Amino acid sequence: MSFLISLVVPVYNEAPIIAANLATILAAAGADDYALELIAVDDGSQDESAAEISRAADADARIRLIRLTRNFGKEAALHAGLAQAQGAAVIVLDGDLQHPPQLIAQMLAIWRSGVCVVEGIKSDRGHEALHHGLLARGFYGLLRRFGGLDLAGHSDFKLLDRVVVDAYLAFPEKQRFFRGMISWAAYPSAQIPFVVPERAGGGASHWSKLKLFAYAISNLTSFSSAPLRLVTYLGAATLLFGLVIGANSLLQKFEGRAISGFTTVNLLIIIIGGAILLSLGIIGHYLARLYDEVKGRPSYLIQPERKPPT
Ligand code: UDP
Ligand code: MG
Repeated sequence: MSFLISLVVPVYNEAPIIAANLATILAAAGADDYALELIAVDDGSQDESAAEISRAADADARIRLIRLTRNFGKEAALHAGLAQAQGAAVIVLDGDLQHPPQLIAQMLAIWRSGVCVVEGIKSDRGHEALHHGLLARGFYGLLRRFGGLDLAGHSDFKLLDRVVVDAYLAFPEKQRFFRGMISWAAYPSAQIPFVVPERAGGGASHWSKLKLFAYAISNLTSFSSAPLRLVTYLGAATLLFGLVIGANSLLQKFEGRAISGFTTVNLLIIIIGGAILLSLGIIGHYLARLYDEVKGRPSYLIQPERKPPT
């Protein structure tokens, strides 16, 4: 019996290393009784990545290039790749070899024993800055507390059974958090620990601190509406505080003691003003997410293959 295994690799500005890395991945994925396809999704790279992949695809029929029309972000690139993959199982991994392809054989063996999801778990976050690790831990802590998801150490390095891929693609959500959604779906899963190696061929991560922070906020709010409830608590707390101060002022008035301090007034304005602005910001954030989802724009678009009219 022969079946197909798909490899999905998102690629953004990896021209110097991508051809060699794709070859490494394919070699490591091996194939004795199954066929392989490798879908490289070029996420609107500004360098020669697409050309490099295209050349690799000409040389190796198992490689397929999908080009997005612009940089839509890694989540969108993953989505595009999953939508194109035909395999009985799909393995998602980075193009910079930070998800060791040597583990693919082990993932496949576990999948064959009947597990739907095999996840690569970072046992060591590699040479990451300390504050980066702390921020990540804080994010995962909040996500666990308020979103009910324990994602510490999780990565986008995963094998998904066809059933899981189809379920993932059937979600109507546009703004996706791959790791979170797969974990949330809770199919039977197994974990393989791995140590994150340095980026193959050097270069830097494409995620700036700001981009990571925005990604964290977006993912947190995609799995938890706790910040919205926070607005209510904030309102209740300020109301209570206001009541105490109000009662105190009234008492002073009736006792004939003129209200003396501007301190109280200042405090009230600052606290209430701050609480209102914060609340508006939180509500605005969810509103923006709703707005984006309601518009229903596709999360990515694929570059058409231009064929001259005949
Ligand atoms: N990537 C992408 N689109 C982006 C940013 C990154 O497809 O907008 C790809 C990138 O080419 C790589 C993977 O996603 O294959 C992980 O990116 P990177 O190595 O920059 O992130 P890190 O390893 O720091 O998580
Ligand atoms: Mg990387």
